[in-house]
Amino acid sequence: MQVIRKPHHDGAIPPNLIDYEAACRSFTWQQAREALAGLPDHGGLNIAHEAVDRHALGEKRDQVALRWLDKAGGVEDYTYARLSTLSNRFANLLQTLGVGAGQGVFSVLGRVPELFITALGSWKNHSRFCALFAAFGPEPLRARLAIGRACVLVTTADIYRRKIAQLRDQLPDLQWVLIIDGDETPAGTLDFKTLLEAAGPEFRITSTDAEEIALIHFTSGTTGKPKGALHAHAAVVAHIHSARMALDLQPGDSYWCTADPGWVTGISYGVIAPLTIGARVILDASEFEVDRWYRLLQEQAVNIWYTAPTAVRMMMKFGSDLARNYDLSSLRLIASVGEPLNPEAVLWCRKVFGLPCHDNWWQTETGAIMIANYRAMDIKPGSMGRPLPGIEAAIVERGETGRIRILSDPRTTGELALRRGWPSMFRGYLGDEARYAKCFADGWYLSGDLARRDEAGYYWFVGRADDVIKSAGHLIGPFEVESVLMEHPTVAEAGVIGLPDSIIGETVKAYVVLKPGLCMDDVLHRDLLAHARRRLGPTVAPREIEAREELPKTRSGKIMRRVLKARELGLPEGDLSALLNSQS
Ligand code: ATP
Ligand code: MG
Repeated sequence: MQVIRKPHHDGAIPPNLIDYEAACRSFTWQQAREALAGLPDHGGLNIAHEAVDRHALGEKRDQVALRWLDKAGGVEDYTYARLSTLSNRFANLLQTLGVGAGQGVFSVLGRVPELFITALGSWKNHSRFCALFAAFGPEPLRARLAIGRACVLVTTADIYRRKIAQLRDQLPDLQWVLIIDGDETPAGTLDFKTLLEAAGPEFRITSTDAEEIALIHFTSGTTGKPKGALHAHAAVVAHIHSARMALDLQPGDSYWCTADPGWVTGISYGVIAPLTIGARVILDASEFEVDRWYRLLQEQAVNIWYTAPTAVRMMMKFGSDLARNYDLSSLRLIASVGEPLNPEAVLWCRKVFGLPCHDNWWQTETGAIMIANYRAMDIKPGSMGRPLPGIEAAIVERGETGRIRILSDPRTTGELALRRGWPSMFRGYLGDEARYAKCFADGWYLSGDLARRDEAGYYWFVGRADDVIKSAGHLIGPFEVESVLMEHPTVAEAGVIGLPDSIIGETVKAYVVLKPGLCMDDVLHRDLLAHARRRLGPTVAPREIEAREELPKTRSGKIMRRVLKARELGLPEGDLSALLNSQS
């Protein structure tokens, strides 16, 4: 197996994490919490104070906190002082509207500064903030606004007219809709800017219990109906710690997180972590466009780039030559999350950027990165890496009596579990206490993902419990098969499922998206099958491979294997509210 040796750091900026083992031994969450400022006068812990106000009161006040690249090519900078004042105004605005502690403030916005102002102002006011995908259709929006009992919604005039206005009478809790743009606010809404300007610029955050709920994040909906996970202000301790360790994020860094705010990554690592560290957040309003992305990395001298496997694969589709036209020497670390990162993608990044892509694993429920590849550690492409200092992970089996058995044999696949108690652990699923309770047993949080842990303590993703394929007594993870297909020079993307078989349980079927300009024919089909059989053996290799124009994905870019399977078998497709390209 290929290992990418950790870099030598002579002369370069040393990483935050130098000695992984030592950090694991010495780290405590208590110390990490104490390293944050806390509200003055023993007033507890509030995300907005840690992320912005304490910087605005200190040396960073005039430093750029947020650089917004709008769709028209314009650039607007927001200093920490400006963000602090604007979010003070938003908190005052909420008070004027009579919105109080615990009430839901939702945004349905793209990547715009108003997202930051709304989130930060909500936390200052003790309200719960939730960002939803702007591209959701009316029904997914209605369902989430209703479950979260949204009291305030911040959105655009266009989204309101097309998707929300028709829902108002079905959302009795929704009292205020604030519109950020347009000349004329639609009936039944208020103008965000006018109210913001009228609101006072000073605001004192009152005492905040670290356990107070600050955030609602809906899961991606990959395996079923999305769940609303609740997170407390305490989560900021895990955000800053994990961003320092796993993303090597440092004060003053130019930092680009490509995640949409509707996905937990877009808030945890698009807003909270980088501001808390004192970095410069690059917020790009536009959608993916390969040349523009390279240009952005160059022009914004991006140091740390946090993206997703689907984005890396999109760039890979265009080959490796494009990158030569750009100076990408500012990059210090590339990381990705959300799906398994194929070894091909790790190696491609090293070839093109001179840096491997650092895979890391976490979930909406864990609130922050839990397992990662660090700058200070050798990378084994295809592995998610090792647990964050402060996190105890294990491969386990649930016993019938509710006890947990730890599986220490490195060959054994089991459920990935985390010892409960880290600060960004979710505090509940909205309206579903029973489901929340089921996630825990014997002091462990059970992730629902299957994985293996090798002798050196590296974790290897096998598949979601729902997606693994059982064939002739073997447990086959779709990721393994997809990664092998991705090695083939014609394949841009792959999704693998199990189909019922009366003799061997399930057979493996693969769907591939070919690189631009290519078509599936008999020769290629045979070549792909042979390649898979050679690399995986006949038991694991797919029996069938079919080419598709695209694969069904969630809005956060995850392949929805359950949808591939339902379509193949003519079964109900289940909850499709998170499906990309769906307007339902
Ligand atoms: P739902 O829970 O609604 O089905 P989801 O699990 O996709 O959706 P998220 O919380 O956004 O919602 O995603 C977490 C999941 O994404 C993990 O449980 C895992 O299956 C997958 N994942 C995240 N990062 C990685 C990674 N680095 N490698 C493999 N899988 C990953
Ligand atoms: Mg999940």
